[in-house]
Amino acid sequence: MISFLDLKSINQACREELIEACTRVIDSGWYIGGSELQQFESSYAEYCGTKHCIGVANGLDALVLVIRAWKELGYLSEGDEILVPSNTYIASILAISENGLTPVLVEPDLATLNICPINAEKAITSKTKAILPVHLYGRLADMPALMALAERHGLLVLEDSAQSHGASIDGKKAGNWGHASGFSFYPGKNLGALGDAGAVTTNDDLLAATLRALRNYGSHEKYKNLYLGVNSRLDEIQAACLSVKLKYLDEQTSHRRLIANLYTNTITNTVIKLPVNACFSPLQNTSHVWHVYTVLCDDREALQQHLLENGIQTLIHYPIPPHFQPAYIDLAHYSYPISEKIHKQILSLPMGPSLSLTDAEAVAHACNTFVVRQIQ
Ligand SMILES: *Cc1c(COP(=O)(O)O)cnc(C)c1O
Repeated sequence: MISFLDLKSINQACREELIEACTRVIDSGWYIGGSELQQFESSYAEYCGTKHCIGVANGLDALVLVIRAWKELGYLSEGDEILVPSNTYIASILAISENGLTPVLVEPDLATLNICPINAEKAITSKTKAILPVHLYGRLADMPALMALAERHGLLVLEDSAQSHGASIDGKKAGNWGHASGFSFYPGKNLGALGDAGAVTTNDDLLAATLRALRNYGSHEKYKNLYLGVNSRLDEIQAACLSVKLKYLDEQTSHRRLIANLYTNTITNTVIKLPVNACFSPLQNTSHVWHVYTVLCDDREALQQHLLENGIQTLIHYPIPPHFQPAYIDLAHYSYPISEKIHKQILSLPMGPSLSLTDAEAVAHACNTFVVRQIQ
């Protein structure tokens, strides 16, 4: 069986270093908010090219806490609207609802599957205060266009970079485009911890200080509480493991790109629509980090079944659009045809730093032998 993502073998590759990192923390006697966190925060800020990195407990908290901090700073209020792509993972939208703000879903561009700046501009009302673009599947949203749009309308931009560690446009990385960005280090993400972890990156000093207080009960100084904060901390063991794994991120991304190129060059079956190798303009140099390699197919269920019969595990990111989720019943009366089409057709092929090129070739070959069984 060719598995979708082999996490065990990914972590086996740096097993000794991970054990050494955990041992160092165990022996230090210091488990929360110490030098491992500081070290990781400064390396990850440097990696993204930002002034600050603030470690938190997970990716959802990273997004929730930025919006919360903007409320504390008086930039946002309950009832304000935030634009978010209609085909994103639910966590992006939850971060808005959790803060009592209103998510306004915006249809993606069918070529890139990322939020469409033109649709975003059309969705702006007098209540719109921010845009939350999601760099879905590892491809940066059209940040030059979105930042220009935000500037024209005086909007804040919070990037959801949970799937795009290291992706860039013209050399500027995910996490360094917006006013702030949320990252997840969930084990299956491109940079994954051995448990839950997340971070915010920003170049804004005041936001960074507010986040450092909010993640720690709202305390900016021991036993003094400025805000009704939360407990959302990135612990020393996870930080130490992340520092190990960060060293291998670029190498692993290169491998993901090899696999993606192999799929793109080898899959010739015309019933399978491959992701575009899109640049937004000839001047832009975009680099995708292939968190997942998604294809679109009219008969997605049959394709998934065919691959399974060939010993290939695939996943669907995501089977149900957010506005059809019972949790978002109040969005159910809206129609998002592009998003609905994507959710019906999308399929993710095996992808990851430990997937061999031989296995990837077998996946591509199996895609090529797929035939649509019934033509109406
Ligand atoms: C994984 C993910 C999140 C949430 O991250 P967690 O660490 O699981 O809380 C948010 N947004 C997107 C797009 C994600 O893929």
